[in-house]
Amino acid sequence: MNYRMCKYCKHFGMQKGLQYCLKRNKPIFWNDFLCKTFERKINMNEREIITSAIRVFGEIAQEEVAIEECSELIQAITHKHRGREHNIAEEIADVEIMCEQLKIINNCADKVEEYRKAKIERLYNKVFDACL
Ligand SMILES: [Mg+2]
Repeated sequence: MNYRMCKYCKHFGMQKGLQYCLKRNKPIFWNDFLCKTFERKINMNEREIITSAIRVFGEIAQEEVAIEECSELIQAITHKHRGREHNIAEEIADVEIMCEQLKIINNCADKVEEYRKAKIERLYNKVFDACL
């Protein structure tokens, strides 16, 4: 098992598959940036916040959150189609944030961008063909 030292309190620990400080009962902050974040809230850009979420909660947990957020968006769309109140905008925001995390976790941001360009091109062709 790969134990890490918590830079915040210098204790070791692991629990539930996460790097966990058993003394503080919180995730281990092995990175200086996160140690400082724990002491007080500092300004973080979007990328830093997203990267920190993956480090603190773990890749598997965040992929599970991504699954949940996708299903919440599906549910919001269904509510809209049934004439019910819906929160599509909120759920789109959640899914976008989780997609950013998935790109980092799976190290595939460049591939996503390539696929995105190709699929936008394909969509353009479909729209063009439909208008003929
Ligand atoms: Mg949501």
